[in-house]
Amino acid sequence: MSRHILPTAMLGILGGGQLGRMFTMSALSMGYRVTVLDPDTESPAGALADVHLCAAYDDPDALQQLVDTCAAVTTEFENVPAESMAFLERHIRVSPSSNSVAIAQDRIREKKFISSSGLKVAPFLAIENLQDFDQALSDHLPGILKIARLGYDGKGQVHVNCREEAKTAFLGLGCKPCVLERKLELQTEISVIVTRTGAAQSVCFPVAENRHAGGILDISIVPARVDNKVAEQARQMALQLAESMDYAGVLAIEFFVLEGGELLINEIAPRPHNSGHYSLNATQVSQFDQQVRTLCGLPPGDTRLLSPAVMVNLLGDIWGDEEPSWDILLSQPNVHLHLYGKKSARVGRKMGHFNVLAEEAGIALKQALELQRRLK
Ligand code: ADP
Ligand code: MG
Repeated sequence: MSRHILPTAMLGILGGGQLGRMFTMSALSMGYRVTVLDPDTESPAGALADVHLCAAYDDPDALQQLVDTCAAVTTEFENVPAESMAFLERHIRVSPSSNSVAIAQDRIREKKFISSSGLKVAPFLAIENLQDFDQALSDHLPGILKIARLGYDGKGQVHVNCREEAKTAFLGLGCKPCVLERKLELQTEISVIVTRTGAAQSVCFPVAENRHAGGILDISIVPARVDNKVAEQARQMALQLAESMDYAGVLAIEFFVLEGGELLINEIAPRPHNSGHYSLNATQVSQFDQQVRTLCGLPPGDTRLLSPAVMVNLLGDIWGDEEPSWDILLSQPNVHLHLYGKKSARVGRKMGHFNVLAEEAGIALKQALELQRRLK
């Protein structure tokens, strides 16, 4: 293990959205300084960081400044240009690696990598051109055509029932590489967040149970209400995948749980994840603390669950002409509100979230749903 990076070193992060903001808050509270690279002048993380480099992710001067001023650099999203990561890697400590990011940013590579690691994914076909629709598709229909790169929150996905619909969807997505994935009957969805610093230093956060609405994460329930055996298997699969990627950093793994408890890996993210936001209040260290720790070569912190928790996303949909009535949340003694400081609310845009802590997940869920209803 190389030496630790300690406060008051400067840490860099590529991307300054809400994940970058929460990383920045963790790092600042530990006494590190932070430089955010994000072209958005209104970047939520840039507003808090010591330095906001307002430039493109492939801007040579900005990348050089990261090299010159930071002890290490991480990322808040998987769509960083691979060359930028590779450039940084030649000069300073970068985690996760450019190779891990390259796998996670392309659904075709991602699914092939997961399968080659001996782990299961949903049945899929790589679709790179119209001729790829000439093969037998019956095992993959009805299905979801998903754009291989740059899709998120259900964007770049089309539900298709037959070959013709799939072709039309492919044309609609601009004939960009896609995967055609069979639509599965899901019992539920869960996720595991792993922190891996080195071979002997991998830890998992408690398993979250995730409910989506309109392709976007809506609610996470922790601990997930699945069989202990299923939760344990998810943790083992997550650790196995992190190991096979020789991963360094925080890695999120989304699972489909099928009828009977069979687990498939849906997708991975080379960073903290929306379904891990409960860790801001319900575990000893948060996923963002872990990101700081592993970036600095420190051992992962303790991820024990201190309290069952339910996380509810706050999307722009609930903003009218005015701010939502935050007193609904802030008047509750066991509710933690987290807003990202985004200036404009849009439908589907993640503006914040809240965590409800209670002695049982079911009790927290009931209260969370009631508060969610009152906010609408
Ligand atoms: P994103 O990158 O937008 O999160 P996902 O592939 O995770 O893309 O899809 C978003 C959600 O859509 C999933 O969490 C799940 O609820 C649903 N979904 C995706 N693929 C399938 C599938 N093959 N079968 C059933 N539901 C799916
Ligand atoms: Mg997903």
